Amino acid sequence: MSIQTVGIIGAGTMGNGIAQACAVVGLRVVMVDISETAVAKGLATIAGSLDRLIKKDKLTAAQKDAALALITTATDYAALAGAQIVIEAATENEALKVRILQQLDAQLAPEVIVATNTSSISITKLAAATQRADRFIGMHFFNPVPMMALVEIIRGLQTSDATHEAVKALSQRLGKSPITVKNAPGFVVNRILIPMINEAFFVLAEGIATPEDIDAGMKLGCNQPIGPLALADMIGLDVCLAVMNVYMAEYNDSKYRPAPLLKEMVAAGWLGRKSGRGVYTY
Ligand code: NAD
Repeated sequence: MSIQTVGIIGAGTMGNGIAQACAVVGLRVVMVDISETAVAKGLATIAGSLDRLIKKDKLTAAQKDAALALITTATDYAALAGAQIVIEAATENEALKVRILQQLDAQLAPEVIVATNTSSISITKLAAATQRADRFIGMHFFNPVPMMALVEIIRGLQTSDATHEAVKALSQRLGKSPITVKNAPGFVVNRILIPMINEAFFVLAEGIATPEDIDAGMKLGCNQPIGPLALADMIGLDVCLAVMNVYMAEYNDSKYRPAPLLKEMVAAGWLGRKSGRGVYTY
């Protein structure tokens, strides 16, 4: 199946990044969110991101205009009718995602592939909630999507080889390097990454070092491009906490206990860059 139009559910951090990545390689995009405000914000983020690429001489103004012209937005799922694949990138909440997937089943032709960008919810379980379990797959992008080369492709127990091949080809068309992963909580990258970030909050709470020194330690000592606390601010502290809660529930192993300081900061609304304050102030 040839993919020409990609539907995207959610115009937030990930949804608008995926929309940009698709549009710059010439794919048509239909980006859907719950309000005009949300889609307008997503579109403005894409325009700003393309402007930064122009400043760095990685894109021309004409390429920016061509990419933006390929993106349409909507608040109604009916707008997804022409898509060959829909990538769900809405808020990380299982009940919400199940509701969205059922709405998609009602709107999309049977052959349309549905992918989810979930960080932590079982692909096998979400697939079972759809009427297209063999055409359902995990397509886990990394933030910021236009810059990050990896896509983790997660096969649920029910995912067909044809679906896997189509999504692998799409990932490559977006200029990404996909890896294929079996469904398991956290998949590969976040299974290792998020507990490391959680540990950084324990270290911070114990007063072992300042945030700056914790981040410098991991950057200089482990060759990480960004420290774990600064990365938590980028990902969103609420997202990190939600992921730890899923590991705790799924593996039932106390090694996944969320750091109390992380919970406390989320309760305060200190969610990181998106709220202007997390571990650091923006
Ligand atoms: P976000 O909060 O920035 O954006 C979520 C968007 O979904 C919001 O604009 C919200 O209005 C919209 N939304 C909610 N309900 C909707 C509905 N019924 N229909 C359409 N849109 C709806 O969140 P995000 O960081 O972009 O995360 C989205 C998904 O991507 C989550 O599943 C998350 O786990 C995953 N993810 C996030 C990151 C990251 O670093 N932020 C990385 C990889 C994967």
